[in-house]
Amino acid sequence: AKENGKASYQFFQPQLSQNLIGRLNSEQALRAAIDGDEFELHYQPRVDAASGELRSMEALVRWMHPQRGMVPPDEFIPLAEETGLIVKLGELVIEKACSQLARWKAENLPLVPVSINVSPRQFNHGNIAELFVWHMKLHGIDPSLVEIELTESCMMGDDQAISEQLAAIKSLGVKLLIDDFGTGYSSLSQLQRRDLDILKVDKAFTSTLDSGKEGEVFFMAIISMAHVLNMSVVAEGVETLEQLRVLQALSCNEVQGYFVSRPLPAGEISQLMRKRYL
Ligand code: C2E
Ligand code: CA
Ligand code: CA
Ligand code: CA
Repeated sequence: AKENGKASYQFFQPQLSQNLIGRLNSEQALRAAIDGDEFELHYQPRVDAASGELRSMEALVRWMHPQRGMVPPDEFIPLAEETGLIVKLGELVIEKACSQLARWKAENLPLVPVSINVSPRQFNHGNIAELFVWHMKLHGIDPSLVEIELTESCMMGDDQAISEQLAAIKSLGVKLLIDDFGTGYSSLSQLQRRDLDILKVDKAFTSTLDSGKEGEVFFMAIISMAHVLNMSVVAEGVETLEQLRVLQALSCNEVQGYFVSRPLPAGEISQLMRKRYL
């Protein structure tokens, strides 16, 4: 089998080395950007579906590239995950979110939690619970002001290290959220075992609310089960009033999406913290 692998490697080598060079270049660029602190967080509101009150803000990282301008995360997070650079970048994000919260606190703004995206790989390098504790302490941030967005792949299987770190984070009072729900393979019972607080339904399902009853039935089922399990439900990617109305009728707890607000730089969101969004 090993010899086979070698043979096919040689067969594809011209193309592979091209890709490899490209990859090494982008990896180096990303590494330099991390060292050069070229990243910034934007914040997207998550609001109560009934009252329109601000409930949380999701921190979404952007690469402010000196030549290319603002690079969206879909263009560098996958590479960061593959190369392990996500560990360093992820810590940068935690640090920036905590220091921003401290700044808002100093400005006497009405604070709501900041929700931070965490990749599965960040659990395999050091202890993420300790990392959060360190940055929250450093900036005097109460754990109730931090939420963590996890993907379903963090929930799969029985990884002892991940469950211990999640339990440690939970016990501090940090809320756990499952992101992009419905796109992976986790079951609600797995989520319950992890003691999750919030279930965020992927925007692919929100967009089905425009076309017939099928999407509505999906949300109805998810919302009623989540409520039985004491989880609150967020719909992401809400873009229209019609989608909002359906979600309100189904007692979806919170909504997020362009209809409510796009992700905004910290300076702009500061002015909008007292706003009623709906
Ligand atoms: P996500 O966590 O699912 O974030 C939601 C994405 O949907 C964001 O894209 C957001 O700007 C976009 N979005 C929000 N409302 C709407 C809407 O109404 N319609 C549509 N079509 N899109 C909407 P963004 O900011 O480009 O982020 C993409 C992904 O990159 C995120 O998906 C997340 O998986 C990842 N990401 C972003 N920041 C971080 C980070 O700090 N750490 C990690 N590990 N991943 C991150
Ligand atoms: Ca997210
Ligand atoms: Ca999402
Ligand atoms: Ca996503």
